[in-house]
Amino acid sequence: MKQNGTLLNTPLNKDMIELSDLHIDEMGDNHIATSVDTPMRADAFDLSDDEKVAAIEKHFKAIMDVLGLDLTDDSLKGTPRRVAKMYVKEIFSGLNPANKPAIALFENKYKYNEMLVEKNISFYSNCEHHFVPIYGKAHVAYISNGKVIGLSKLNRLVEFYAKRPQVQERLTVQIGRDLQAILDTEDVAVIIDAKHLCVASRGVEDDTSSTVTSYYGGKFKEEATRNELLRYIDLKTDI
Ligand SMILES: [Zn+2]
Repeated sequence: MKQNGTLLNTPLNKDMIELSDLHIDEMGDNHIATSVDTPMRADAFDLSDDEKVAAIEKHFKAIMDVLGLDLTDDSLKGTPRRVAKMYVKEIFSGLNPANKPAIALFENKYKYNEMLVEKNISFYSNCEHHFVPIYGKAHVAYISNGKVIGLSKLNRLVEFYAKRPQVQERLTVQIGRDLQAILDTEDVAVIIDAKHLCVASRGVEDDTSSTVTSYYGGKFKEEATRNELLRYIDLKTDI
């Protein structure tokens, strides 16, 4: 694992030991993550968003060109720019810490000391191995340590970390750890149930399976608390 991480985090250069095609294919299809933090270069934000859009437009045009697509066709000619803008300003906007939602905390004036669960948060992400969608539901829970968070901010935080090239395990841990830091408590849980289009629409082509991941901190490591959370998530919400 360690060795893979080192190799993958090293910028490509001629001295680097190349991963064989077979290794790359196997690793991607097994969806192995190399670290909790999204692997980013130190110069990741040297370019402005607009400079990134211009560069990606050029490169995406080249991909379409190699595929033999006619870029003079009215339907296709705007695609490179559309894709570039979508990458930078929408589906991968969560790579940039500047886009992290501002999160205000409030005093727990109600003295509500039970767990709070925000369940069925819909999210859309993309698999970092294939760049095709991962989508599903996130359930986020915490027990207040004196501070409470605006409910919509839980959705916003899920959305922020989802808008990156991701693996589901990392997405789960990133949300959990950040919430622990924001709320200054270990008592946080995150459960994600998601579909991966790289599993459904290609490769093994299984469109019925879904992937469940979880992150349990503090009191949620205790069986009774965890079971309570799972019961709440199971509640039928026909409101
Ligand atoms: Zn994938």
